[in-house]
Amino acid sequence: MTDVIKLTAAETAARITNGDLTAEAVTEAHLARIDAVDEKVHAFLHVDREGALAQARAVDAQRAAGEPLGPLAGVPLALKDIFTTKGIPTTCGSKILEGWIPPYDATVTRKLKEAGVVILGKTNMDEFAMGSSTENSAYGPTGNPWDLTRIPGGSGGGSAAALASYQAPLAIGTDTGGSIRQPAAVTATVGVKPTYGGVSRYGMIAFSSSLDQGGPCARTVLDAALLHEVMAGHDPMDSTSIDAPVPAVVEAARSGNVKGMRIGVIKEFAGEGYQAGVVQRFTEAVELLRELGAQVVELSCPSFSYALPAYYLIAPSECSSNLARFDAMRYGLRAGDDGTRSAEEVTALTREAGFGPEVKRRIILGTYALSSGYYDAYYGSAQKVRTLITRDFQRAFEQVDVIVSPTTPTTAFPIGERTDDPMAMYLADLCTIPANLAGNAAMSLPCGLAPEDGLPVGLQIVAPALKDDRLYRVGAAVEAAFVTKWGHPLLEEAPQL
Ligand code: GLN
Repeated sequence: MTDVIKLTAAETAARITNGDLTAEAVTEAHLARIDAVDEKVHAFLHVDREGALAQARAVDAQRAAGEPLGPLAGVPLALKDIFTTKGIPTTCGSKILEGWIPPYDATVTRKLKEAGVVILGKTNMDEFAMGSSTENSAYGPTGNPWDLTRIPGGSGGGSAAALASYQAPLAIGTDTGGSIRQPAAVTATVGVKPTYGGVSRYGMIAFSSSLDQGGPCARTVLDAALLHEVMAGHDPMDSTSIDAPVPAVVEAARSGNVKGMRIGVIKEFAGEGYQAGVVQRFTEAVELLRELGAQVVELSCPSFSYALPAYYLIAPSECSSNLARFDAMRYGLRAGDDGTRSAEEVTALTREAGFGPEVKRRIILGTYALSSGYYDAYYGSAQKVRTLITRDFQRAFEQVDVIVSPTTPTTAFPIGERTDDPMAMYLADLCTIPANLAGNAAMSLPCGLAPEDGLPVGLQIVAPALKDDRLYRVGAAVEAAFVTKWGHPLLEEAPQL
């Protein structure tokens, strides 16, 4: 492994700016790494070699001309294949979008390009972001770089695996119920779900519009903050985008002080289903926060027990509506169009051939939950539960500044273990879903390795909406203390590929 690919994004950007490295050389090093390991990992669905090199050369030219460079100029990034990229295939992990070349860039894609970030390619994901393991991708699973026979989390497993295998120092994910945080937890990387509305959803293929949120993925808290500032901000193209300044996340990540902060531990995030080593590492992290001068408060959020069932009504309901646009007429695949069939028949054949089993399950479930006569019993009730969960958070945040919990109940499970058991798969998001339902900001960061299997454990931090900076303040403090105490799991113990 070359030294260049082991640098953080912040270091890489600094070395490009001061002329120590060229953006082109940095991109070449990462493309070489992709060539060397991605056959095994399968983090990428598409690598845009020429586009990446052209972006990198443009940054080098900018520097040569004496123009100022942005804080991440020339740094390579892996983009989840849910964001549209003009002229570059975008599949969302689905056969139904195979061969579709978007005619426009998502706002996030545009912002990255404007900042001089080098987009290496598009990463693997569960089809339409539905899943917790990346096994629902129509293009085959991704391996966890810690153990290639295990899942890298999902739906953004490709982005997390790209970071953990040093194929990119930065990545982008989306989080509807945990798809940024859960992959971060099981790969020892950092993932942030910003406050709902903090990052534009324009050009981010919709799964569940009231929950979906794009966010940064990185190997360090500071790198995530730098990316957060580049990708966030108000966008008139997204009606749910928040018209407020981006929280000062980089400043918070640089300060990293928790003295006097009140940290909540939720009683309900424990008990049956939690792996002993995960609980042990989490308990140690809470102890560490105390040592750093934080005040730890135990809290109860009784409605959180209903978060999973509420989510699995709301998300499928919204997806059944959002995915109606894949009708064989507008994008990608068209099956059975031999001149003898009606438009309805072609639509039905295309959806039958193009959607995988999990997507079909959710469309059927959602259509049922929204149908007249059942709406009040299912979707309506789930929305009421959502309000109760939001109120639980509001009450909790009257007493504490942030809440911490394990990100996932277990470490990475073996590929294939839960594919026939959707309920077991859904449990991977037990701790992450409440923050999506309430629209809060949340982060996962590495919290050591579980003693029983040597696999990464994630610490989740949740902050009130618009207080994303608190995640970075606490995250940076915990990260620094962990590194001093135990070393960084990814930098020191990650298995060689
Ligand atoms: N695993 C959850 C689901 O399957 C969350 C997915 C996500 O956050 N996109 O819906």
